[in-house]
Amino acid sequence: CKTNTLYLDMQVRCKTNTLYLDIHLTVMVVPGRQDKEEKIYYPPEDLQMNAHVPNFNSYLALYKRSIEEPEEFWRDAAQEFYWKESPSGQILQFNFDVTKGNISMKFMAGAKTNMCYNVLDRNVLDRNLGEKVAYLWEGNLPAHHQTITYGQLLKQVCRCANALKQTGVKKGDRVAIYLPMIPELVVTMLACARIGAVHSAVVRLIIWPCYSQFAGFSSESLAERIVDAQCSVLVTADGVYRGEKLINLKQISDEALEHCQEKGSPTVQKCVVVKHHALRASGTDECNKLQVGLNIMSTLKIYNLYKNVVILTPWNAERDVWWQDIVDSESEQCDPEWLDAEDPLFILYTSGSTGKPKGVLHTVAGYLLYTSLTFKYVFDHHHDDVYWCTADIGWITGHSYIAYGPLANGATSVLFEGVPVYPHVGRYWEVIEKYGVSKFYTAPTAIRLLMKYGREPVEKYDLSSLRVLGTVGEPINPEAWLWYHDAVGQGRCPVVDTFWQTETGGHVLTPLPAATPLKPGSATLPFFGVQPCILNEHGEELQGEAEGYLVFRKPWPGIMRGIYGNQERFESTYFRKFPGFYVTGDGCRRDKDGYYWITGRMDDMLNVSGHLLSTAEVEGALSEHAAVAEVAVVGRPHPLKGECLYCFVTLKDSHEFTHDLVEELKGKVREKIGPIATPDFIQNAPGLPKTRSGKIMRRVLRQIARNEKDLGDLSTLADSKVVDVLFSYRCKTA
Ligand code: ATP
Ligand code: MG
Repeated sequence: CKTNTLYLDMQVRCKTNTLYLDIHLTVMVVPGRQDKEEKIYYPPEDLQMNAHVPNFNSYLALYKRSIEEPEEFWRDAAQEFYWKESPSGQILQFNFDVTKGNISMKFMAGAKTNMCYNVLDRNVLDRNLGEKVAYLWEGNLPAHHQTITYGQLLKQVCRCANALKQTGVKKGDRVAIYLPMIPELVVTMLACARIGAVHSAVVRLIIWPCYSQFAGFSSESLAERIVDAQCSVLVTADGVYRGEKLINLKQISDEALEHCQEKGSPTVQKCVVVKHHALRASGTDECNKLQVGLNIMSTLKIYNLYKNVVILTPWNAERDVWWQDIVDSESEQCDPEWLDAEDPLFILYTSGSTGKPKGVLHTVAGYLLYTSLTFKYVFDHHHDDVYWCTADIGWITGHSYIAYGPLANGATSVLFEGVPVYPHVGRYWEVIEKYGVSKFYTAPTAIRLLMKYGREPVEKYDLSSLRVLGTVGEPINPEAWLWYHDAVGQGRCPVVDTFWQTETGGHVLTPLPAATPLKPGSATLPFFGVQPCILNEHGEELQGEAEGYLVFRKPWPGIMRGIYGNQERFESTYFRKFPGFYVTGDGCRRDKDGYYWITGRMDDMLNVSGHLLSTAEVEGALSEHAAVAEVAVVGRPHPLKGECLYCFVTLKDSHEFTHDLVEELKGKVREKIGPIATPDFIQNAPGLPKTRSGKIMRRVLRQIARNEKDLGDLSTLADSKVVDVLFSYRCKTA
């Protein structure tokens, strides 16, 4: 028995028939996971003293109540908000079983309310927060910033709501939003919510911008989303700088509207254009003068921007209007439309990591309650906090945890237009110091990017205001978790690794910072009302320590209500595989303490010689090597093993890709997981293909590893150039 392989020779004689069989078995013996002694991080005492959920027992008690008495639990939580009319029956009604009829979930059915009223008027009128800062807007350049109070936001939202009504928008109409991270983005969303219009934000520039070149966000994908949701108005901006790159948003919008025409779906009647760049971002007198000229000429627009860059803005006088022209003159009063609890609030497309994005539909009451409650508990929000989520609002993280969740709690948030590495690699840390940020929420991809520059840029700034750190979007490898915890959080801030999806509306597996002992890399335990289960391939529920499909048994208020206009795709994607459960599509392991570890997408699982390996686990082992900045692992067909491991490795700046390094990396995986997981291929990857929300698209990597040139729908890819580079570095032999 060498190298963990056991050979057995057996003879089987079958006496009834004169048949003799010789069986030779080769059995690979895989040693169990060689977990290092697991270090557990306990909540800091000072955080516990004043926390909403101050210890693990309080979490358990609240969780138990949310499961055993869901009606009472959610009814109590709803007390906080304003309901024009109360619900008529049971708080939560649902069918999760396709075999028993259409999938449906309703929360507070029969109640009437308004999201905008609850997050603005209620704060200004009932809670006396009119003077409190809602957003600290920080532009692309540190010199550009602005403060917006709850009172100002309410007035601006009313003006915008009135202007939208003037352009013909009515309850139920869809409004496409393609804006950068500026206050008008939140204003437009809330204005839609106020009048009962359904917003569909497509703000997908590069959400976690790790690339120097901007690939020019495809007008095709914007068009696809406009057509899918049949939007009647598009709200966009003239242009925006992201780092050093100027993006002509109006031109992209125009191209998108042309594509809509070509697709035979010219639904957009009005295009409202925020004069952002010319007025706010450049801020020069010269610019303003040129803009005045623009309003008179209604053909081609020219304006001057800083650094002497001139952009041309095409203009269609019949369709296009400047935001400032239609919004500024409107009244500051606008009565909210009282909506049914289950009326639609917004459509938002998933990140498209696994294929064509899905237009996820969320409704008013459940989403309000769930984002508000998760925000309060997961970030342990207090009145004097300064909270910063670095996501783009065009991703669900921004919807739930920059817009609705924080506003519902009357929080003060930073709204950041820029990128993490401009004008220097310490920008995030500079902003934290500037505003005294106490709760900070970002993604593993941003952490890994900033880790590349070491601790020096972090240590230059005073980060003593930080109390809680959060992460979302992908499994976070323990290496990145520890760096975040030690370098950024100075070892005193809990890291809440929040697992959730566009579809779940809010966090579903997450620690609570003052209550949950943490294990780096684990999203820990379910939020209130959430019942996770792990199923095997046959749909059997696994108990105790287990690994398999992550599913949920019952809905919670923030769960999606459908895929817009496509009930069939909704049911087949999430409910058909295992009737009676919502299927996340993610793999998951539950450890001996009941903690959940996301192992990656089920479609990305690796099957090597009959052994299922998780991408997250192999990637975690490789990223422990000091030379590795980022890594992605996929399967490639293998004549003997069925599938073998093909790893794409991005190195830190000062390291070279050598034969010795490849051997060391293979050794690392062997040592951490076992010989079965030894990679056959390790490829140098100067960059990785990512979605605009910063997630690695393993689907594309799989095709590169297999040398398949037809890559399918790449509309969600942030930078398509990276694909050509990776093809040119491809490993042909092991
Ligand atoms: P698509 O559904 O179009 O393929 P997507 O799944 O990337 O795109 P999102 O809704 O933005 O779209 O992302 C949700 C997914 O992100 C989850 O299903 C999971 O795979 C991953 N994810 C999010 N947070 C975490 C986390 N904390 N740990 C592990 N994975 C996470
Ligand atoms: Mg998904």
